[in-house]
Amino acid sequence: MGKSENIIELIDVRKVFDDETVAVENFNLQVKKGEFVTFLGPSGCGKTTTLRMIAGFDIPTSGKILLNGEDISTLPPNKRPVNTVFQKYALFPHLNVYENIAFGLRLKKVPEERVDRKGKTVTKFIRLGKSEIDRKVKKALEIVDLEGFEKRSVSTLSGGQQQRIAIARAIVNEPEILLLDEPLGALDLKMRKEMQVELKNMHKKLGITFIYVTHDQEEALTMSDKIVVINDGEIQQTGTPTEIYNEPVNTFVADFIGESNIFNGAVVGKLKVKFCGATFDCLDDYEINQLVDVVVRPEDIRICKPGEGQLKGRVISSVFKGVHYEITVQIGKFEIVIQSTSDAPVGGVIGLRIEPDGIHLMEKVYTVNKYDGVITKNNTVEFGDGDFECDLTQLYSGSHIDEEGYLVTAEGEKKDLTGVEVNVEVAPSDISMTDDLNAGGAKGNIISMIYKGDHYRYIVRTEENEEDYVLSCPDMWNTGDLVGVVIAKEKIKLALKPAEEEK
Ligand code: ATP
Repeated sequence: MGKSENIIELIDVRKVFDDETVAVENFNLQVKKGEFVTFLGPSGCGKTTTLRMIAGFDIPTSGKILLNGEDISTLPPNKRPVNTVFQKYALFPHLNVYENIAFGLRLKKVPEERVDRKGKTVTKFIRLGKSEIDRKVKKALEIVDLEGFEKRSVSTLSGGQQQRIAIARAIVNEPEILLLDEPLGALDLKMRKEMQVELKNMHKKLGITFIYVTHDQEEALTMSDKIVVINDGEIQQTGTPTEIYNEPVNTFVADFIGESNIFNGAVVGKLKVKFCGATFDCLDDYEINQLVDVVVRPEDIRICKPGEGQLKGRVISSVFKGVHYEITVQIGKFEIVIQSTSDAPVGGVIGLRIEPDGIHLMEKVYTVNKYDGVITKNNTVEFGDGDFECDLTQLYSGSHIDEEGYLVTAEGEKKDLTGVEVNVEVAPSDISMTDDLNAGGAKGNIISMIYKGDHYRYIVRTEENEEDYVLSCPDMWNTGDLVGVVIAKEKIKLALKPAEEEK
């Protein structure tokens, strides 16, 4: 087998901490030699853990990491041709710039072939000579644009300069891959912007592979050849900055990268989608009745005379952002954000036009219904425009409900949970429908039914706030039916919102 053109390959990588925290899952990625790849995602999504596995500081729980086609999953960090730059520079404060960069080189031993007295060729490991170290340090300083700084004490340098020294220290070892974990995170905005350009230039000069971690979408879009968008430990999308921005594959990516309007929509005809109460031509071909998320970028919406576009609404705010105005328009109960180079007066009515290529449809993927809920009484939770009986003892392990109906914790503390906010989850198979509208916790109309082989998948939407209940059921109902939504109390999964846990 010839050498792979991928320098790094992650195959089905999974990392679980302490048998319970799944930090990384189903991670499959190919990184080409010389690419600038960025891991982008919110805090806690698994970016650093993935980087640490590539560096060798963490070992995958399962899956493989290949370097030039060879499995290195369990190889120790110092045996990998990889160096890491962290957010905190971790320079030695008592050493000057030269010594900081030369530090690793002085410890390094390189193989050299010699002929011994008996005429045999032997390999000896020798330390680098002074002139060799000088040459390497000088070259590294040149790359980070800090020639002449050799004698400076690192404590006299600015944050940006210190980070450049940290980069010089990493590249002086001539790694094949440079890993950068939020290296600009500690710098102020102006310095960060300058360093973004410089890092990109360094990448060009060095010609090696960069794997970069950030939660800053703009940074990722500016610097990368390839962006890997991660959420909850899983890759959401991999692509060039333009692909990720123009063709997000789901609402998470659309929302995370740039500004987006996201609406609930339904496909109502061949290349026709309905959302915000109007029907639009679109380019994504889905089956009729398919429910979709519709993503529209603010810059893809044009202002026109009322009555000329597909939508008409009232301007509720307009903010000048330097190059464009960010205008919020109320259309019935929907709000839509647009970007326009011309202003529109607040209070005025305007028309909006969206061309088919500005409308992106994404199939809604339902695994579980999720709602924001509030405990209303000791045994009732309000969510999805409804009130449901629930079991609150699941919120505190070992708790029970006393005779007066109060929750008592395992430690004997009586809790009044009225008004407490919770996350609610219900599986589609745990929801049923009834003709008796008073029997359910909520009521709504069936707005979609799709036959899925042995059952139907229904979506019931409430009238008040258009909350959706996705449910599966073998019986046939009709679209448009008004139904009650029934959920058994033991099937309603509750979790305290993080802010409530801290109280
Ligand atoms: P951030 O941008 O905040 O650094 P991240 O995307 O880099 O976040 P990770 O640091 O990779 O995220 O963390 C992913 C998940 O794994 C988090 O839930 C985190 O708490 C958990 N985690 C990370 N390291 C450990 C560890 N050593 N032990 C237990 N859990 C860990």
